Amino acid sequence: MKCNMCPRACNVDRNVNTGFCGMTNDIYAARAALHMWEEPCISGEHGSGAVFFSGCTLRCIFCQNSEIAAAQVGKKITVERLSDIFLELQDKCANNINLVTATHFVPQVAEALVKAKNKGLVIPVVYNSSAYENVSTLNMLDGLVDVYLPDMKYIDSRLSAEYSKAPDYADVAKAAIHEMVRQTGKLEFFIEDDELVKSGRVEAGIMKKGVIVRHLVLPGTTKDSKAVIKYLIDTYGDDIYISIMSQYTPFDRLKKHPLLSRKVTRKEYNSVVDYAIDCGINNGFIQEGDVAEESFIPEFDYEGI
Ligand code: SF4
Repeated sequence: MKCNMCPRACNVDRNVNTGFCGMTNDIYAARAALHMWEEPCISGEHGSGAVFFSGCTLRCIFCQNSEIAAAQVGKKITVERLSDIFLELQDKCANNINLVTATHFVPQVAEALVKAKNKGLVIPVVYNSSAYENVSTLNMLDGLVDVYLPDMKYIDSRLSAEYSKAPDYADVAKAAIHEMVRQTGKLEFFIEDDELVKSGRVEAGIMKKGVIVRHLVLPGTTKDSKAVIKYLIDTYGDDIYISIMSQYTPFDRLKKHPLLSRKVTRKEYNSVVDYAIDCGINNGFIQEGDVAEESFIPEFDYEGI
């Protein structure tokens, strides 16, 4: 069967070829480990059980994980092994399983989740993505994913065309986020009385159901950031969380780019946060201090694979 699983619609046979995402049907992943740098209600104190998949359907020019997105790193694993990796992360006291950039492996991931649940996986499953997703692909995860962690990177199609070769990004992301909110319903958090908290599997305060939309503020484009924030607040109000991120890191490969060669200034970032407050945001996360550090970028050393 030809692959048209994401909006790139490559129509290639991934048994033998790769499409835009750079991957065949074989699952490749570069790290499965406790990750401490997600939002507090995702990582908690124990950490989030993050599985980083190789390849990407969006491939932004400013990607913070370009080595893995370009499929230059990764180890081949079976669906059975992936299901065991989920259980190993649960045994390491992860608060959840965090599927990072799994769009191009959704059928395999769905199969691994079913297997893992049959073998005793009880912690929540988080799907962490660019939001460049087909609704029909997200439907395969309905009932298997508890928390969605999509980006909403841009509204302006000129920006999404230039930075991500995806002029349709905003419309696609809007439809994807709508589907994610439909699947998860109202926001829910673990409380002390929950069985998983009492049994020590999950910390109180960890998100149980819901959607957190992330927006990374980029240098020189605060007007578009504000348009993203306004869209999310006008559309979803308090039904979702919005995480406004400042950790953009300018890599050497972009040192000649007119905008992307520098960090976001504190003034730019604060102007987006102030705008969100003016729009009436109640459920938000912001980043404090100078967080544009390469230490936020994990080592793709095949730990846990
Ligand atoms: S998942 Fe990969 S091969 Fe399939 S349509 Fe998307 S980019 Fe193309």
